Amino acid sequence: MSIDNLPPLRDVIERHELNAKKSLGQNFLLDLNLTSKIARQAGDLQDQPVIEVGPGPGGLTRAILAQGGIVTAIERDERCLPALEEIAAEYPGRLRVISGDALQQDFTTLFPDPAKKPKIIANLPYNVGTQLLIGWLLSDPWPPFYSSMTLMFQKEVAERIVAHAGDDAYGRLGVLAGWRTQSKIAFDLPPQAFTPPPKVTSAVVHMIPREQPLECPPHLLERVTQAAFGQRRKMLRQSLKPLGGEALLNKAGIDPTRRAETLSVEEFVHLANQI
Ligand code: SAM
Repeated sequence: MSIDNLPPLRDVIERHELNAKKSLGQNFLLDLNLTSKIARQAGDLQDQPVIEVGPGPGGLTRAILAQGGIVTAIERDERCLPALEEIAAEYPGRLRVISGDALQQDFTTLFPDPAKKPKIIANLPYNVGTQLLIGWLLSDPWPPFYSSMTLMFQKEVAERIVAHAGDDAYGRLGVLAGWRTQSKIAFDLPPQAFTPPPKVTSAVVHMIPREQPLECPPHLLERVTQAAFGQRRKMLRQSLKPLGGEALLNKAGIDPTRRAETLSVEEFVHLANQI
């Protein structure tokens, strides 16, 4: 499929010698059908500001631009910059590339107009994906600087993000994500979709921030989930001992013999508010 007048990604990678580096979590998507499908999950992109982390050779970037997005992309690997410049030349004024580490980036200032918040769309590097997501989930102030997130993760991480109480994958990530967003897995991608193929299946998660999540200081929710899931097989009266144990649970009206994985997001928030 041709979505633009630019050369096929295989040629781009060969010409710029972009052999994938494991240390940067580089598993590239070369099929523009697939990158277009990911971009479509984010909704209408016409003149929509978009933040992309890790554009690499630009497969997803091209799909977002072809659908009308206005992109700011942050890439750590300087070898990718010439390839991204070629894309920017094809879409004048619509692609800004920041060379640097996304973990050091202040995202809140990239698109300062609060009336037109950016969508975050990314095939995230596996080594920093969860860390970036937690930063975005704990954004302050809330509602956050972005209007949605459409992100690729290892499927196992995606399942932890969308998990509910009682699910095997339920843990800190599910509580944080469930507290502040509505999230769903949009679709899976097999290893062969990537070059080079990773060892595991991947999945695209779409997340929309809740306008009014239950009131709770984020650091207290972090503390309580950390303690509770740090010893997830133990009863809460044991795992939460450092935070007040049985007395705290009684104050919250939660049975001290329950285990972390049985508590809903609402119950965790209520508990955190009693600390
Ligand atoms: N978006 C491209 C695609 O879908 O084919 C590449 C995705 S690849 C999984 C992850 C990309 O993130 C790589 O281009 C890598 O260089 C970049 N990257 C890794 N760590 C980064 C960081 N800390 N900040 C910004 N980019 C990073």
